[in-house]
Amino acid sequence: MAATEREKFPTLRIVAGMEMGEPHWHREVLTGLLARGTFERLLGSLHCLRYGDGFSEPGYLFTQRPPAAVVCDYLAEVPRLVAECDFFEVLAHIEYPVRYWPQDLGPFQWAAFEEEFRHALRALADGGRVLEINTKVGLFPDLVQWWRDEGGRAISFGSDAHAPSRLADGFREATAMAEAHGFRAGRDPWEFWFRCRRDMQRVPSPARRVGDAVGRRGAYGRSRQSITCIKR
Ligand SMILES: [Zn+2]
Repeated sequence: MAATEREKFPTLRIVAGMEMGEPHWHREVLTGLLARGTFERLLGSLHCLRYGDGFSEPGYLFTQRPPAAVVCDYLAEVPRLVAECDFFEVLAHIEYPVRYWPQDLGPFQWAAFEEEFRHALRALADGGRVLEINTKVGLFPDLVQWWRDEGGRAISFGSDAHAPSRLADGFREATAMAEAHGFRAGRDPWEFWFRCRRDMQRVPSPARRVGDAVGRRGAYGRSRQSITCIKR
């Protein structure tokens, strides 16, 4: 950030983080990368699924296979991502395929995939992770309800801005939706939002996760003071 911007917003808090796509398939590379940096927030995500000898994004897969099957396969990969990778704390944009849903099929019908979403969310909750409310394709309140139902305790917000002008896009509506579902901000707005204060102790910090993953506990990232490192 330019010095002039920093002067304009002297209290601005910038959290250093990283989103890792398909981290369960690139564990060795990522543990090496994590060992070289300091990250306060680690996101894991799925952008691709295996296709043929390689990988492909939903946009292309929708042209090659029945779109509903692609969405089901995407959501079925989430439990594997959680089970095979313990060094990310937040799952980013679980609704990623919705961005590419074929227009000629009409609006994406979330309810048609409720069972698959719930299965993925349950695995995420059981794995002690945090669900990101991503505002890129708009909000779907039922997703937050399903997250609660399946045992989800914490959420974060992401705008996937890719440009400074879109930072925190839709956060006013997203935070209102989260509050309507019983989630509350921590002491600092940038922290995770929890259902209740007790839940704050149940989501391990990235320092604990990454430290465990590479055998150097606490080597990366500062443990946030408001989140006690208790591994489930
Ligand atoms: Zn992403």
